[in-house]
Amino acid sequence: MTSTLDDATTDQSPKGRKPMFEGQRTLTSRIAVYIFILGPFAALVAAVPLAWGWGLSWVDIALSVFFFYFSGLGVTVGYHRLFTHGSFKAKRPLKILLAVMGSMAVQSPPTTWVADHRRHHAFSDREGDPHSPWLFGTSPAALARGFWHAHMGWIFDNDVTNKERFAPDLMADKDIIRVSKLFPWLTVATFVLPAVLGGLISWSWWGALTAFFWAGLVRVAILHHVTWSTNSICHMIGERPFASRDKAANFWPLAILSFGESWHNLHHADPTCARHGVQRGQIDTSARLIWIFEKFGWVSDVRWPTEARLAKLSVK
Ligand SMILES: [Zn+2]
Ligand SMILES: [Zn+2]
Repeated sequence: MTSTLDDATTDQSPKGRKPMFEGQRTLTSRIAVYIFILGPFAALVAAVPLAWGWGLSWVDIALSVFFFYFSGLGVTVGYHRLFTHGSFKAKRPLKILLAVMGSMAVQSPPTTWVADHRRHHAFSDREGDPHSPWLFGTSPAALARGFWHAHMGWIFDNDVTNKERFAPDLMADKDIIRVSKLFPWLTVATFVLPAVLGGLISWSWWGALTAFFWAGLVRVAILHHVTWSTNSICHMIGERPFASRDKAANFWPLAILSFGESWHNLHHADPTCARHGVQRGQIDTSARLIWIFEKFGWVSDVRWPTEARLAKLSVK
């Protein structure tokens, strides 16, 4: 398998004969993946019937929305557009804050996330892509299997993407390494903080418990599925107005929940572009936040789309 991957002409990762994987997951890390992926998922399944009996307070809703945006934008603006694709440059305090926010989405430390995602772009929808829905064929059964694999099955693969090959810049960044090492603690914090706030605001243990459930577990689960939908749905269904060498598509129903990441066709056509929703009416909250950061002078060198470039990329 490795030889065909090394021969891939479109592999944009640094060469130098570094292997694709750096090893296998340890037992502790395998168990942690099961707990922190399936735990919030189970809460999501339980959420609807429980909401009936428990009720759901306004404090829970407000905390859920806040932490959804906080951790979600950490992934889209921080992990994705800044760390993976270098769509803009950020001042050091903002860079660290975005790494911390993204870590609180419980998707992996920034180094791991970026290595996996750069491998996705380097091999998109071909062998070597960690999460393509097209790896098993195009029959209905193969696509069902592919959907599952692209959505969440791939997370349980034990091969670890080689960070020295795909993310050497982040491995050399002391701030990012420090945040990556704090990942277990940030995972605890993302569940405990809503509980503490919910308890203090409602001044009750019950308020702490419901906030833990809604703004901790259920919020993380929904964000997981939104992020994974970009890998599964947005590589299967939608419009393809721009030329990309894979099946990436724009899927409008997820635009708001995904903070603009579901304009995935443009993203694969022009990965370093800071705005993914480039056409009229395409809401892109992440791009709006980057624009605000730029106004405050906290980010620079933002790669905004230009008319000429979009015209070149568009499918006539
Ligand atoms: Zn993609
Ligand atoms: Zn990307």
